[in-house]
Amino acid sequence: ATEFNKLTDRLQESEAQQRQFVSDASHELKTPLTAVKGFNDMIMLKSSDDTVRDFSARVDREVNRMIGLINDMLDLSRLEENRKLDRVPVDLRNVADEVAETLMPLASEKHIDLTVTGNASVMAEKEHMTELIKNLAENGIRYNNAGGSVRVTLSDTADGAVIDVRDNGIGIEEKYQSRLFERFYRVSKSRSRETGGTGLGLAIVKHICGIYGASVSLTSKPGVGTDVRVTFEKK
Ligand code: ADP
Repeated sequence: ATEFNKLTDRLQESEAQQRQFVSDASHELKTPLTAVKGFNDMIMLKSSDDTVRDFSARVDREVNRMIGLINDMLDLSRLEENRKLDRVPVDLRNVADEVAETLMPLASEKHIDLTVTGNASVMAEKEHMTELIKNLAENGIRYNNAGGSVRVTLSDTADGAVIDVRDNGIGIEEKYQSRLFERFYRVSKSRSRETGGTGLGLAIVKHICGIYGASVSLTSKPGVGTDVRVTFEKK
């Protein structure tokens, strides 16, 4: 038993070191990237050459993608920390309304109707709930067609609090559905790239659900849409 304990201790220690490395590396990468973004902004400001401006705009898109990736990696490594949760009552309607407000520019740019209905509350860290709803709603917008919709529906059921995010977008073929929650897994790399995806959104969602013992189910049909349902079981 002591040998086993030693082994698990060592395993935990090396996992902690790995997390620390990801976290340090992410922070280190952010500094030069932010500088690159700043200099590129200057090029954009100073140049009147269309070709240069076109390249500069591309650099900006790619830099933003990298910053997005780094932030998602930092989020994931924080979620893996196994620290004690600081749970407070969270009004999910409040959170969903705030998320909808942040996503409004993206939604209107893509001509997607984003709405929030219902009410529910959970004992959780608000930031986790924001992240969860944001990732799901953002996917609903990004993998959608102009004129489509995303509905965030909250309810307090006998089973517990439910967050349901439904879109009538492009949907996902059944053969891909089981892998969506893996890190960096994307059905279409090009579509994900085009829309600024990192491939980490659903991995983050799954992690958050894991922390709270919430269950997550996804149903989807190509050409019809996708429905993701998260249930926080009553304890
Ligand atoms: P990404 O940053 O690429 O969106 P996610 O982890 O959030 O990464 O999602 C993984 C993949 O699952 C996406 O690349 C996309 O192919 C698919 N996907 C996720 N949500 C939806 C959705 N609502 N409709 C269609 N496909 C989706």
